[in-house]
Amino acid sequence: MTAKDRARLAAERLKALYPAVSELEHTNAFQMLVATILSAQTTDRSVNSVTPALFARYPDAAALAHANPAEVEAMIKPTGFFHVKAKTIIAASAALIEHFHGEVPPRIEDLVTLPGVGRKTANVVLGVAFGIPGFAVDTHVKRLTRRLHLTKSADPVKIEAEVTKMLPPEEWTGFSLRLILHGRRICLARAPRCPECVLNDFCPSSTVRARGGRRPLTATAASVRLGHGRSPVRKRPGRRPGTGH
Ligand code: SF4
Repeated sequence: MTAKDRARLAAERLKALYPAVSELEHTNAFQMLVATILSAQTTDRSVNSVTPALFARYPDAAALAHANPAEVEAMIKPTGFFHVKAKTIIAASAALIEHFHGEVPPRIEDLVTLPGVGRKTANVVLGVAFGIPGFAVDTHVKRLTRRLHLTKSADPVKIEAEVTKMLPPEEWTGFSLRLILHGRRICLARAPRCPECVLNDFCPSSTVRARGGRRPLTATAASVRLGHGRSPVRKRPGRRPGTGH
């Protein structure tokens, strides 16, 4: 099986398990941008615990650009690194006002010019907020694409370039979002749950092989109900979902 075959089969199998959603709560591109910046080094649950009040107080770039940094810091403190994050979301908002008429631009070339926005954040915003294909490579996507032998690279830019050659653009956003969900719930960093994984019959890193040969392309046994930050599968005692973007 080629890497392209594995990518396509993994995309198909994960599509049957997970919706193509971000677990960051948002109602527009500005909120998605701010929430994604805040999600660095923390969980989506933590971000979702602070953003309703933050967006009620600062509903758009114009409001946040002129915010009192100390007030913003206090509001986002649970997400960690709050000094830097407050500075970044205020600066990003100011850049939106100065260069993009206060609107989040729907082009990766423009998004990456904003403070605190790299290709990962830009691709998430493009895919989730605008429906424009983008393959975001976070820590989960990096780990899973390497375990599935879709890449040998550890460089997110190279991983993005390699994987996007294996799939049609309309699959990029969904595959990235589903890899993130699968990485949080099944293909955990320290102890992947291979026996529970729907990719275990062809994943080169699998510690098990599914009995009875090839699985069907639809996975009903572990079908999921997704809630924000909740596991879609039966939990094991002592296990916790992984971290955020
Ligand atoms: S089979 Fe194991 S290593 Fe491969 S994707 Fe699934 S959980 Fe990860």
